[in-house]
Amino acid sequence: MRGVVMHAPGDVRVETREDPEILLPTDAIIRLSATCVCGSDLWPYRGVEAVKGPSPMGHEYVGIVEEVGGEVRNIKPGQFVIGSFFASDNTCAICRAGYQSSCVHREPVGGLGAQAEYLRVPLADGTLVATPDVPSDDLIPSYLAASDVLGTGWFGAVAAEVGPGKTVAVVGDGAVGLLAVLAAKRLGAERVIAMSRHEPRQKLAAHYGATHIVTERGDDGVARIKDLTDGLGAHSVIEAVGTQESMMQAIRATRAGGHVGYVGVAHDVELPGEELFFSHVHLHGGPAPVRRFLPELIDLIATRQIDPGRVFDLTLPLDEAAEGYRAMDERRAIKVLLNP
Ligand SMILES: [Zn+2]
Repeated sequence: MRGVVMHAPGDVRVETREDPEILLPTDAIIRLSATCVCGSDLWPYRGVEAVKGPSPMGHEYVGIVEEVGGEVRNIKPGQFVIGSFFASDNTCAICRAGYQSSCVHREPVGGLGAQAEYLRVPLADGTLVATPDVPSDDLIPSYLAASDVLGTGWFGAVAAEVGPGKTVAVVGDGAVGLLAVLAAKRLGAERVIAMSRHEPRQKLAAHYGATHIVTERGDDGVARIKDLTDGLGAHSVIEAVGTQESMMQAIRATRAGGHVGYVGVAHDVELPGEELFFSHVHLHGGPAPVRRFLPELIDLIATRQIDPGRVFDLTLPLDEAAEGYRAMDERRAIKVLLNP
């Protein structure tokens, strides 16, 4: 089969890889209907994370089940399924508490390489959720968004305790930030402030329910949020970048007693203890337990109540993955869908 392999920062190739096979009786093999490039794939692409030799890439996937192992009970060949970036059993105490991305048996899917024609999914019964029917093609981008960016934005909003009557600010205008705006709106926020200086992204944020756009960053951005909230800060702030600046911007834009939901993968973030102590801000976040939200998100997409697939503003054949990485790296595209 064909699949994306990163050899070094900036060096992404589509190569012939071995077809995946059932290795454990809890595995499933899926034929991918669509896959995509993640903002987090840019960390190794830019050399911020080390690339340890040729690495299969990709952890976002939807597709048709081809084959299942002997112990798989609920997932069946022919179903259209969605999974997320950690395989999980969905039965352990941590999973039952809703933290499937910290499952005691979790396995990262990224190492298996979902930017490919086929994928082996471990713990298929716990990891995969089937849609009601095999969907029409126009719904596939939205289901693919549910695999990571929608589920992650949704978790950010839940972790930030978004709810009716609240003012919510979103730091970050990538796909996760934009879909956190969608989540905040769906969860009943009264005002949603998107922080973005890029016009196409501002427009999409408005489409998803942003009531205000703030273009300033850092301390100036914090000052604008305070201006909009009687000097108090937002009730809920979703951090969807993962840098020192964005994290401090999120904490400082939150009012005392408010909540930060942080879902940008942290890189060299160090929090000042004394400032945190006196801020009275709740912090919750981490790798999103997307599996917790998949049944609800699938229902919202199947009934066309939400359209998260609009974050894909560039679609390429899998063979042109290198151009997809370049387009995202240069911010020419918000998110790139790859057709296997
Ligand atoms: Zn578990």
